[in-house]
Amino acid sequence: MFNTELIHFSAIQDPYHSLIPPIYPSSVYTFNSIEELIEFVKAKEKPRFEYGRYGNPTNRNLELTIAHLEKTEDALLVSSGMSACTIPLLTFLQSGDHIVFTSDIYLKTRFFIEKLKKFQIEYTMVFPDYEAIKQAIRPNTKIVFTELPTNPFFYIVDIEALSHYLKPRGILLIVDATLASPYNFNPITWGADIVIHSLTKYFSGQNDLIAGVIAGPKLLLDKIRETQGEIGSILPAEISYKIQRSMKTLGIRMEYLNQVALEIAEFLSKHPKVKKVYYPFLPSHPHFQLAKKYLRGGGGLITIQLEGNLETLKTFCNSFKIFKIGPSFGSSESLIDPPYIMSHWDIPENEKQLLNITETTIRLSIGLENKEDLIKDLVQALEKVKNLQ
Ligand code: PLP
Repeated sequence: MFNTELIHFSAIQDPYHSLIPPIYPSSVYTFNSIEELIEFVKAKEKPRFEYGRYGNPTNRNLELTIAHLEKTEDALLVSSGMSACTIPLLTFLQSGDHIVFTSDIYLKTRFFIEKLKKFQIEYTMVFPDYEAIKQAIRPNTKIVFTELPTNPFFYIVDIEALSHYLKPRGILLIVDATLASPYNFNPITWGADIVIHSLTKYFSGQNDLIAGVIAGPKLLLDKIRETQGEIGSILPAEISYKIQRSMKTLGIRMEYLNQVALEIAEFLSKHPKVKKVYYPFLPSHPHFQLAKKYLRGGGGLITIQLEGNLETLKTFCNSFKIFKIGPSFGSSESLIDPPYIMSHWDIPENEKQLLNITETTIRLSIGLENKEDLIKDLVQALEKVKNLQ
């Protein structure tokens, strides 16, 4: 089962039988002779390491652990979640191709896809919905890119149906499952070709590092690894070790967050000062049924909207004692992210409206503090909003 496999999986056996795999920071791996080097360069499957930009034993151990958790063949560590999003696109897209991506995704991923236009790569942005994606497919579509759940409204694309549609057409389905983590969702088991995670979030869980991973079948990963080796987006072994350390509690943290965030979402949905609550496991969420189909739990993020304007937002956000204003999610510390200001500040007003990003939209990242304290903090901040009106 998830926790046992995660804790005991190890691809590396060190000669001293240490329980915890060692860190290999070396950038160079030497050869005893030219014959050994010739044997190495001729080998199709590289049996050992050569140079740090192409991998090291510490990273390999984590890559194979993540591939195991994602129920696929291979994985590749990169320097950030953004590298994990961009490197597969650079690997598989060529000028003249078309990509479909869903609207409610991490904005930097969207900006990168839009920039590919300068290489004559066309794109269509659609609402995260199977029919909408299907309608956007063209004869030259090479990739469909979505998050599952999306961000910040947690929409769920029916990827089983979508993969049935895309596979015979040779279109790759890439899923950024950062918001779910492999504890809640394994996209490849539902037909996705590649799964991506920002390891900065739930995997690390401590707000103290930036990293990313791409997982999928070896055939695709070999090609992506080649691009990564050329681009040079590498993860230092020390960071990889930190992730392996933090990740052992991934299942326990996700299980806890699935329960606590649901309870907080239920509480907020009954609060008179909260206009709207988005959480995938609330029956009021438009994709509740799909969430039940694909996800083990709703995760640690909740998005709310209040009645009011920027002044309401200021009063509310400035009142918190435990929640801190900041980007990111998935770590011990609870955070509030107002996307109207934080991520979408430069987006034109009419587009913000289309994306449903209002002045009082707030994404809550639930941390590991006591649930009662978090609810108390939310209640007193909501009280301040009441005083304002
Ligand atoms: N994908 C999603 C869904 C994200 O939320 C983020 C960052 O917030 C990224 C990718 C990028 O990850 P990183 O910050 O590790 O580059």
